[in-house]
Amino acid sequence: MGDLRVRARGLQKSFGDNHVLHGIDLDVAAGTTSVLIGPSGSGKTTILRSLNVLERPDSGTIRIDDVEVDFATLPDKGGSARQQIAALRAQSGMVFQAHNLFPHKTVIQNVIEGPVQVQKRPLEQAVDEAKALLDQVGLSDKADQYPFQLSGGQQQRVGIARALALKPRVMLFDEPTSALDPELVGEVLSVIKELAAEGWTTVLVTHEIRFAEHVADQVLFLDEGVVVERGPSAQVIGDPREERTQQFLKRIL
Ligand code: ADP
Repeated sequence: MGDLRVRARGLQKSFGDNHVLHGIDLDVAAGTTSVLIGPSGSGKTTILRSLNVLERPDSGTIRIDDVEVDFATLPDKGGSARQQIAALRAQSGMVFQAHNLFPHKTVIQNVIEGPVQVQKRPLEQAVDEAKALLDQVGLSDKADQYPFQLSGGQQQRVGIARALALKPRVMLFDEPTSALDPELVGEVLSVIKELAAEGWTTVLVTHEIRFAEHVADQVLFLDEGVVVERGPSAQVIGDPREERTQQFLKRIL
């Protein structure tokens, strides 16, 4: 594996009595796409949200590039904890199941919000970059529209442009097509495919197994909070070794 962009070790997470992650290890090489598959409730979203520190693992470490947080020793609160969490969170960009665009802002205002307000980048530069990103996701003609004027697939593509605008080290996609009407799924998947081809480092949770098979450098099959099987998609999806993986794929394909 080349240059390691994401390295997670021993992630543990419980919600009350519900022990959701049982020691997850994850390596993602720079420029590659990893796809998490598995039954509903197996912990896929919790892993993704942990990488972006929307959930705080109970223990384990996450390193993205040169920022590492050890959750076992991270203080519960205080300035140092906040700083460490913010630094790790800034390394990744998240695209959610359903768009969470600002409804009262135009498409381009949504895309420049983070770069200008959070990263304090010059407005003109942010606008130029936002235009290029909207072009990349096929929405250059929608820059001045409002989210309600767009289809669900278009809104998801704005969400992708908005995450890209922050120039994250890794893009995280949490079932980005699961809330879409079937005819809108393809346009979002093709943007993700293009990003992967361009060399973005990506971690994706999806139920679109055929897409996963096609786009993934690495597939991880999760069940009940453990990685049951991992490897190239041709192996994990095409020729799974583990009984649980075989059963899951048989059910959904
Ligand atoms: P998946 O993405 O594989 O469907 P999730 O990571 O969403 O699985 O959920 C794993 C388990 O954690 C489920 O049992 C779910 O109910 C529980 N869970 C997830 N988020 C929370 C939360 N914020 N509070 C309580 N339980 C949660």
